[in-house]
Amino acid sequence: MSKRAVKIILAVTMLFVILCSCILEHYGEFERLMNYAGLTDVYAEDRFKFYVHFYDVGQGDCSIISYDKHCVVIDGGEKINGKELYRYIRKLGYKKVDCIIATHPHSDHIGGLIYLVNHIEADFIVIPVIPDSLMSDADYYDEFTIAVQNSSAQVIYISEVQDLQYGGINLTLIPGILTDNMNNCSLVTKLNFQNISVLFCADIETECENYLIQSGIDLSADVIKVPHHGSDSSSSDAFINTVKPKYAIISDLLNNSYGHPDKAVMKRYKDIGAEIYRTDIYGNVILESDGDEINMIVERNFHEQ
Ligand SMILES: [Zn+2]
Repeated sequence: MSKRAVKIILAVTMLFVILCSCILEHYGEFERLMNYAGLTDVYAEDRFKFYVHFYDVGQGDCSIISYDKHCVVIDGGEKINGKELYRYIRKLGYKKVDCIIATHPHSDHIGGLIYLVNHIEADFIVIPVIPDSLMSDADYYDEFTIAVQNSSAQVIYISEVQDLQYGGINLTLIPGILTDNMNNCSLVTKLNFQNISVLFCADIETECENYLIQSGIDLSADVIKVPHHGSDSSSSDAFINTVKPKYAIISDLLNNSYGHPDKAVMKRYKDIGAEIYRTDIYGNVILESDGDEINMIVERNFHEQ
């Protein structure tokens, strides 16, 4: 082969490599943008950032904390949400999760966890202690209990404040109060990651909020997962002023029959300067952080109602 022919082949090969790398780079960026817009997939390398996915389950509750190889799930929405929740977690790149937290046995929190526990490996499953007198108000509890018994997970029953750590994620699990109201038995979870914090309030109502304030536990948080879907049963002025959130996330279904979120509750969060993100409007809401700054990514663009 002549020197000229070798040079031509080399030049064509180099051009081909440069072209391919440009296409792949732009394709990758395009894919990433598309993924965030539609959340059809999330690349494995993005796991090295810290995320909290406030996963849209309609009238229910579900949050997924992901960082590096660690994944924690808090509630799973209704039973109908279970399969999609499992798929979402697999798309995030997880074949197993560190911990599944079932805040309380109402169908809009525990329902979707049945499918998840049946299909994904978990190291731990965290459950609050529920008084026997309330078991008649527990939805799907037998089915959930069977799934938990059949899993290889270690079960932790929370009756006092307890810390769990996964990598740089610190979770403080705070039991509610044992009353005749199941919502107030909800497990509250305070998440700390480097310099940011998130308070997941499940469905606690004012009685439990007051108890938590009086307990002296540090409830301050950058982000609050608003208690009880923004119901007027919860989010008292005293509680909001204790937490002092910069961001308030509300999980509910658009035009739901409960009237969630309550207008007065929304005003209370706005009055202290918190930015409100509703899953019924934004779809999935994702908190992204480097441990200092918080960035919110939403599935749907917001159009003022
Ligand atoms: Zn609920």
